[in-house]
Order: sequence, then structure tokens, then C-alpha cells
Amino acid sequence: MSESPLIDTHVDLPQIIRGLGRRPLDVIPDLATRLPGHVDIPKMREGHLGGAFFTVWAPCADQFLDQPYGKDFLGMSEGLRDSLEVLDIIKNMIKQHPDHMQAAHSSADIRAAFASGKIASLIGIEGTHFLGNSLSTVRLFAEMGVRYLTLTHTCHSSFAASSGGGGYMEPSNHGPGLTDFGQELIPELNRLGVMIDLSHTSDQTMKDSIKLSKAPVVWTHAGARAIQDHPRNVPDDVLKLIGDGPGKNPGIILSVFYPVFIGPTPETANVSRVADHIEHVASIVGRTHVGIASDFDGMYAGVHGLEDASKYPNLIVELLARGWNDTEVYNVMGENLMRVMDEVDKVKVRMKDQLPSSAIWEKRPDLPANWGGPEQADLPLEVRDLVNSRLKHDELIFKDQLGII
Ligand SMILES: [Zn+2]
Repeated sequence: MSESPLIDTHVDLPQIIRGLGRRPLDVIPDLATRLPGHVDIPKMREGHLGGAFFTVWAPCADQFLDQPYGKDFLGMSEGLRDSLEVLDIIKNMIKQHPDHMQAAHSSADIRAAFASGKIASLIGIEGTHFLGNSLSTVRLFAEMGVRYLTLTHTCHSSFAASSGGGGYMEPSNHGPGLTDFGQELIPELNRLGVMIDLSHTSDQTMKDSIKLSKAPVVWTHAGARAIQDHPRNVPDDVLKLIGDGPGKNPGIILSVFYPVFIGPTPETANVSRVADHIEHVASIVGRTHVGIASDFDGMYAGVHGLEDASKYPNLIVELLARGWNDTEVYNVMGENLMRVMDEVDKVKVRMKDQLPSSAIWEKRPDLPANWGGPEQADLPLEVRDLVNSRLKHDELIFKDQLGII
């Protein structure tokens, strides 16, 4: 593990920091000594962690906060504020611990951080329900350094249908997979060089996204459904779409440590069973398309043998004991993921001349914007006349439905 970095693609530490104090930024210094939960700097060091994706997340309002988004996903905008606050926590976390953490965006950055003995620190967004139904926010998050976007959390969004939280999930009102707006999001993420994370999404969202994406897709924290029958795990028919060869998406599935997804029961889930998931996935997609992701600090406990960030070596020992050779182990630790990041970056370069998508969520009632102040006195006269003569939102929607415009 001193030769090649172990990269964990899903660490929910920022959410813990946000929950430990009314002034979350005051918690950041404690990271150097001890934090409650699964992750702090001493644990990451003991576990020889080479790199981590820290996640930006805000709760699904209709499931966790009892504040419905409504059928058109237009309610609750605090999630955008909350997710920006989480991003701010991550940036400050990295800045305040320069002896241990180093910001990274590319595989070259990860290698540079690893060579200087720092934990390469990357950022992912988990969910699209808090993005204000806007591609503008996605573009700006990308500019702020976000490297992956999970298309849903446990709730549906204006972009895509989710697999839910594990129990029965009402189907999305917009269908089983990507919405029309979600179909605009996929090429936009390709263009931005943001990895498309299909963890948490419905099976149809996975299939729709794989069909549309020009770049490799990722599952930043998921298991194999054939090993543990849970909707959060990837089914074999989807795994068959991933790997090397014509018509396949060269993506990666990074295996989670969440006991409920690993099984066979939450009480008996252990490190060996995590390796079973990895080996099953690898038997279909190949050993160059698998990786490691904990979900630390985003679950009540890790499996036996992988209880916190100090325990990664137990999984490496398990894979070596099963006959994985050094190269295969380096690949699963981080080389496979870095190759995927490089391929995603190449697609970004290829698409560099493409303009951003101008798509908007069609249910939004606020565009075109309609505020010119009292008597519309703040609008240039020419604009005021245009605004006054244009169709109102409801008329636009009605004509749209009739196919007139
Ligand atoms: Zn998750």
C-alpha cells in the first residue's frame, strides 16, 4: 500500500462534521486527533488511505424532513444552500490540514499527493434533488472541483428515478429511468468531465445512462445483487453492459462496506463477504473494472473487519489470500479508478468546443423571468413591451402540450 494509492470513492465525513456542532467549521481542527464516527486523520493514516472522495449531500426533503417537493419537484430549495455549506466544509477541511490532505482533481493530482505523503482529497456530489432543478448549478459545482455526481440519492429527482432506501419505493411520476431533462444532464456531465455515478439509481436509470454516456460510468458505492438481493446493488444484466469489448461501457463498480448491502445478514456481514461481492462483479466485468468504496460515516457501522478507516488493509490481505496478484490488487485499490478518470478527462477534451446545454426543467414556472419591479419600471421600454406581449407561463405549457410551439 506504500507502492500504489488506495482510493476510497465514498466517504461521508463532511456530513458528520456538519452534525457535530452548531458551528460546523469549529469541528474541523478535531479531525487531526479524533472525531466520533468512522473517519479522522489518525484512522485514515493507520489504514494507509491514499485518496478519498468526500461527498456533498443534503437530505431528501420528502423522505427525511417531511417537506414535500411536490409532484413537479419544485418545493424546498434549502438543499442547495446546505450542499454549498458542505462543499465549504470540505474545502476548509483540506486547507486546514495541509500536512495530511491535498486537493486533487485528476489522476496526476492523486499521484502527486500520494508521492508527497498526503491523502489525495477529491469531491463528489451524492444526489441531484438539491440542485435546484438546474444545469447551471451542476456546471458551477463542476467548476468548484466536483468530480462525480450521483444521479439520485434515495428519492427521485427531476433528472432521474431512484432505487429508494431499500424498502418499497413508489415509482417516480416521470417514469422508471431518466427524464428528458436527465437525458440532457448525461452529455453535460460528459462535457464537464464529471463522472456519472449510478449508485442509488433505479435499474432503468442505470441502463438509460449507460446508453447515453460517451464516457465510462461509475458506481461509487454499491455491491452485487447476485450476492445480496438488495435494490442498492447492481444486477447482473447491468454488470454485463460494463467492461472491455465492443458495445460495453468501460466503467467501474467500487464495492461498498454497508452491512445491509453486503449480507448475508447485517450482523454477519464481514470483510470476506465484501471480497465475494468484488469477485462476483469482477467475474462479469473483469478485474480491471472494480474498486473499493466504504460509505464510511454514511452508515451505522461497517462490516466486521472493516469497521473504520484504519481497517482497509484487512481487505487487501483478503484479496491476496484469494490469489489476486500484486498488479490486480494495485488495480482494485486505485489504478482502475484512475484509468477511468483519465478516460472521462479525454471525453471532456474531445467535447471542449461544445456549448453548454440550455435545457431547463420544463415544469419550472419562473422562466422566462418575470420581474421588472412595480409597473415594470426597471425594464427597458423595449423589453417591457416584449414581456407584456408574450404568453404567460400557463399558456406556454398549454401550447407546448398541444405541440403548437
Ligand atoms: Zn449513499
